[in-house]
Amino acid sequence: MTIDHHPSDELLLDYAAGALSGAWSLAVATHLALCPACRRKTARMESLGGAMLENLAPVPGAQDGFAAVMARIELPEVGEPVLPARPSASKSGLPQPLRRYAENADGELAWQRLGLGASQLLIATGDPTATARLLRIPAGKPVPVHTHQGLELTLVLSGAFSDSTGRYGPGDFQEADENLEHKPHAAPGEDCICLAVTDAPLRFRSFAARLIQPLLGI
Ligand SMILES: [Zn+2]
Repeated sequence: MTIDHHPSDELLLDYAAGALSGAWSLAVATHLALCPACRRKTARMESLGGAMLENLAPVPGAQDGFAAVMARIELPEVGEPVLPARPSASKSGLPQPLRRYAENADGELAWQRLGLGASQLLIATGDPTATARLLRIPAGKPVPVHTHQGLELTLVLSGAFSDSTGRYGPGDFQEADENLEHKPHAAPGEDCICLAVTDAPLRFRSFAARLIQPLLGI
């Protein structure tokens, strides 16, 4: 699996800080299950933790405190093991931790029809700030029109979709807000199944941005 599109550093930092509520956290955690690079980065964020954010002096001349933090987190570490993605053995083929939220008691996915061949499965995360769902879009078809007023996270699980920002295959992660007018289209050959998390009408607010504010001197 080659993953080209990853969660932003801000989102990974929020995840590492435990600042994401259930649905957002599920999307990031499922990407991490598929992506060794983001697992490594998040592990380093977790181990450096809040102490580093508090103690890190701004780099002289650096305008962007957040970039300075990320530059330190991204320092290469020699001999760091790369963990393989866990194999999936369930009927649904979903990776953990998504599997235990999305499968029914028989280990299957209870799809609801949306029309035009598309289906969805609402996922109960217990998170009042966001809605998580699986979407299954027939190969070669457009994603049904949907609106979102806040952030939308999309993680491809199988198949692929394309929009004006690129092509997204298994493991790829997209963060979109209302400024991105995208008309995703499933790639031909295989149905596209993705996890979509949306927050309407609540706005997503970055916990990391608030943590880093002192570094920026604002
Ligand atoms: Zn990644």
